[in-house]
Amino acid sequence: MSRQKSLWNRLLNMNKAVFLDRDGVINRRLEDDYVKKWDEFCFLPGVFEAIKTIKEKGYLVIVVTNQRGIARGFITEKDLEEIHQKMQKELKKHEAQVDDIFYCPHDISDNCNCRKPKPGMLIQAQKKWNIDFNHSYIIGDSESDIEAGERVGCQGILTTDLKDAVKLLFDD
Ligand SMILES: [Mg+2]
Ligand SMILES: [Zn+2]
Repeated sequence: MSRQKSLWNRLLNMNKAVFLDRDGVINRRLEDDYVKKWDEFCFLPGVFEAIKTIKEKGYLVIVVTNQRGIARGFITEKDLEEIHQKMQKELKKHEAQVDDIFYCPHDISDNCNCRKPKPGMLIQAQKKWNIDFNHSYIIGDSESDIEAGERVGCQGILTTDLKDAVKLLFDD
C-alpha cells in the first residue's frame, strides 16, 4: 500500500473515544489514601450501565489514571495491574469492559509527560487506537482531567457522577 493510501485509510478509520478518569468516576475515591488492593475498590453507582451505554454509542472507552501511589511506594505496578484485571472481570459481567487502561506511575516531582494535567496518556492512546480527539471526550472529577483533555482538543466533562455525564452526552 502506498504511503499516501495508508495515511488516507488511517484518516478514514479514526475512532471516537470517551476517556475516563478512574478514582472518583469509576470507583469511590478514598480520603487521603490510595486504592492498594481489590477490597478497597468500590464501584460507584450506575457505572456499569453508563459504560455500557458509551460502548453502544460506538465510542472506545479508555481509562486514564494517575497512580502516584506507585512512585511513593504504597502499591506496586503488579498490584495495580491485578486490581485492573479484577475491575475488567467485573465490568465484563455487565458488558461494560473498557477497551484499554493507561496509568501514570510517576510522582509530581518526576515531571513526566503522562501525569494529568499533561496529556501523555491520551497521546499514547491516540497512537495505539487512532483516535480523533476532536470527536472525543474526557470525563473526570478533577480539573486536571479536564485540562489534559483540553490540551489535545477533547471536550471535558467535570463530574463525580458518570451516569449523569453519560445522560448529558447522549440524551437529546
Ligand atoms: Mg479522579
Ligand atoms: Zn507519568
